[in-house]
This record gives sequence, C-alpha cells and structure tokens, in this order.
Amino acid sequence: MKLLIVEDEIKIGEYLRQGLAEAGFVVDLARNGRNGQHLAMTGHYDLLILDVMLPDIDGWRVLKSLRESGNPVPVLFLTARDNVDDRVKGLELGADDYLVKPFAFAELLARVRTLLRRGTAPTTETTLKIADLELDLARRRVNRTGQRIHLSVKEFALLELLMRRQGEVLPRSLIASQVWDMNFDSDTNVIDVAIRRLRAKIDDGFEPRLIHTVRGMGYMLDAETGN
Ligand code: CA
Repeated sequence: MKLLIVEDEIKIGEYLRQGLAEAGFVVDLARNGRNGQHLAMTGHYDLLILDVMLPDIDGWRVLKSLRESGNPVPVLFLTARDNVDDRVKGLELGADDYLVKPFAFAELLARVRTLLRRGTAPTTETTLKIADLELDLARRRVNRTGQRIHLSVKEFALLELLMRRQGEVLPRSLIASQVWDMNFDSDTNVIDVAIRRLRAKIDDGFEPRLIHTVRGMGYMLDAETGN
C-alpha cells in the first residue's frame, strides 16, 4: 500500500512518514502543494494525507484539481482548526475524512486503515483468503488452518500484496517498489530472502504450497499450481 503525505511542517511530515513506514506502508512525502499535486497526479497512491495550510498551492486546490481530473484516490485531510466550515468544505470538495491537529498517531493510523479498506473493498471486506490461509486486515493477523502465524511488518505487507493479486506472477521489480519502496537492483536478494522466510512460516508443514517461484519471472501466490 502506497501513501502520499503532503505536509509543509517538516517535523510533522517526518513523524508521519516514519510512523507509517514502520506500520508497513510505502510512503512518499511532499513538502509543498505544487510537488504534492504533481506526485498525486502522476504516482499511483492508495491514499493521500493532505495538509490544508500549505505555502503555495493550498490543500483545497490540490484536492479540487485531483477530483476535477477524475482521480478517485481516498483523501484524508489535516486541518489545524477545529472549524466546522473547514470540515464541510473539505468533504464537499471530495475528501473522505479529516483529522484536526494536533492528533494522536494511533488515531491517524486507524483512519488510514479504515479508508484503505473502504477504498479497496467497498463490501467492508476485511479478510483476504486463499485455500486455508487467512489474512485479517483489521486485526493485522494471519492464520492457516486456524493456527496463528506471526509475521514481521514487511512479511505482512508482502503477503498482503501476493494475496490481493493471487494467481498473478509478480515480478521482483513490482514487489520491490510496492513493499520496499526501492527500485529493484538485481544485486540485492532482499526479496528472495523475505520470500524464503514467508514460505517457512506459511507453507512449511502445510498443503497445498501457496507461494510459487516462476523461474526468470517472479513469484505467485496460487492454490492450484503444484510445483
Ligand atoms: Ca501546514
């Protein structure tokens, strides 16, 4: 899941970027409206966290231009004032939710997760399934045949990506950009190592094996293909 934060206050921006990255998201940070608008229009984000008071193009104008161009990315806006007019304006312009500064990080994270679930699964779907493996997005839990499996933040993000796109071969370059926020460098084996660890946790001792290596192409999660 890839998020964009548009926030000119350096401390807040860094704090959010770090917290969300630790929670397993890939995060870009823009420090002004112009850059934020450009990234929002050209990047593929699952969610935008948008400060309203920005020095150049303010958050309202960024939001307005996004919606006018037909971009449906969920937007959570941050407002410094607990002002009813501001909230109404934001929601009328097409924002999905708002937070009044100052806010607790846990509150922001909860809103982000709610919006992402709403955005990707309109039917309040909170669990991804394949065979007897279940990933509970709301509780951040994974289990197979009812046994709880403990995953690191990155392993969870990797499994979520594989489950959302089950049956598709995912090239290492795509996995690198979606889970690690890095360009794929063939000298690094970080993805292969993470896949090996994930396999040991979700596939070892279970049938059928779900994670498949497609030689020369990448990895695929599938309950059908045997190898
Ligand atoms: Ca600001």
